[in-house]
Amino acid sequence: VKVHIQKCANCKPYLGGYRSRKTGKEYHHASMQTRPKPIKDNGIVKYHRETQTVKSKNKFQQSTNDTATQMTTGGTYVANLTDKLIAPGKYLEADVYLENRLRKIITLQSYIRRWLAKNYVNMIRAQRDTRLEWERQEIERKKSEKEERIQRELQRRTNPRTKEDFDLLYCALEKWRQEEMSIINKNKTGAQRKAALAALLEQETHLIASIDQHKIIAEQNNRERNTRKFLDKAADAKRWISVDGKVTEMDTAYTIRAKQLRDLYTSIVMKYLTQEERLDVLMTLKHTVKEHDCKLTREIVELTDREADLLTRGVKEENLEGLRKRICTLFLEYVKNPEFNPEAARLLKVPTDSALLPNSIAFCPSCNQYKPSTEFVLTSNSRSVGKCRSCQKLDNDARMRQDLSLYRKMLRKIRQIEEVSDPLARIVFLLQESDLRYLVENIWNSKSALSSESDLYDMILTRWDKQQEWSPWNCILLSYDEAEAHLKLDSISESYSAPFIQKIHYKHVLARNHFSNLPKMAKSFSKKTVSKQSSRIVPKALPTIYPKSKKDKSISENTTLSGSSEVDVN
Ligand SMILES: [Zn+2]
Repeated sequence: VKVHIQKCANCKPYLGGYRSRKTGKEYHHASMQTRPKPIKDNGIVKYHRETQTVKSKNKFQQSTNDTATQMTTGGTYVANLTDKLIAPGKYLEADVYLENRLRKIITLQSYIRRWLAKNYVNMIRAQRDTRLEWERQEIERKKSEKEERIQRELQRRTNPRTKEDFDLLYCALEKWRQEEMSIINKNKTGAQRKAALAALLEQETHLIASIDQHKIIAEQNNRERNTRKFLDKAADAKRWISVDGKVTEMDTAYTIRAKQLRDLYTSIVMKYLTQEERLDVLMTLKHTVKEHDCKLTREIVELTDREADLLTRGVKEENLEGLRKRICTLFLEYVKNPEFNPEAARLLKVPTDSALLPNSIAFCPSCNQYKPSTEFVLTSNSRSVGKCRSCQKLDNDARMRQDLSLYRKMLRKIRQIEEVSDPLARIVFLLQESDLRYLVENIWNSKSALSSESDLYDMILTRWDKQQEWSPWNCILLSYDEAEAHLKLDSISESYSAPFIQKIHYKHVLARNHFSNLPKMAKSFSKKTVSKQSSRIVPKALPTIYPKSKKDKSISENTTLSGSSEVDVN
């Protein structure tokens, strides 16, 4: 079938349509292909003005639905399949009804109570389990901490590095000696005892000698490390921390110079270089030191020339070792001289310019030397300066052999706690390790005031009255757990018995008498100095004995930076 499509030539007429209220779209009525008949105009007016203006109204109407019941009669059948037969129950009086209801309520309640009780039991059971688990972990933690500590001590004893490690060794030696002595005194008399004591002395000397050997090794290692530290410090850029936490770094001409010297030092001590590389290093060194002409630089130049000469002649590396060491030592001296490395002036212990010397220089009667006040350890009740640090150390190694590392740790801990709880705390920062030792050993007998426990590693001197600042007369020696519980108490007088409080007060009186200088010292320091320089505190009353004529001599002896004298005050 062929369908002919005739394209409509004229425009589609508007035949009406409608607009969707929801979408606003317009729909037009379709038009047919055949055009409508043209309306004949027979001269009659077919519209009326009134039809256009008449008011119309829409109203929905719903007619009522009629229903009726119908019973089965003669002519009608109604199905009764869905009908129900309802019989009247027993009549309940109000009292019976209420009683029934109460009984049911009680049954329901008992079920609910049982359910709640079960929940509660489960909860406390879980709590008990967590508590037991925590206790177990706590015990394990303490055990592992103790093991770790022992391990660390063993490590320190086998590989001593710092001053504290050697203190520990000497302390152990002294303990061993005393034990042996007591055994000998108990079992032997007369000539036998003397012989045994002599043997013991010999053993002791052997042990001291072996400790000293360790010391020499440690000093060598420390020297190398200190040199590195010194060079790195000098070459470090200046840093500021701004308010927003950003770090600003700045290289000055001095630090750049220090950096160059550090790099040069690194390449000088570097091993396994080829001949050409070594010659290159030597050339750089020569050019660097040549900038200044003095005895030291001339010596360095001479030595580098010598090594270069020997290298080109093919001398073996092993034979050059001594020469290299000399070059290295001389160059270090060069680096440490503020004239050639200005940044070093900042790091030298004793300023080379005598005008800049601090006026707190004191005399050590033991080694007959003048030293800066930082080289002296002052206990809080010392009246004179006494011996310098190194003399005291020597004395300690030889006679008392005390190990203060335990007290150092405890003091650090107390200071940390005080710093947090009271930013204005002063007294604890004035106290030194030996003071704390006196406090713990002589006043508190190294025992917890509550449980007489004597493991000092697990103990701390905590505040007695938690509202007051920590001080020797406001503290109590307790184990960590006890201290924690003690600080939670609201009232001391209600928690402890009167005799106990009396005992503690007595100890406080003893401490106050021993450290009677402390309150005065604390007053003489402003808040600022305490927070800034907590470790290097020297009382104002310190006598400064300083004859002027001896000034230069004593300084020149101390100008070199000695690594071994670097001791942590805290
Ligand atoms: Zn001294």
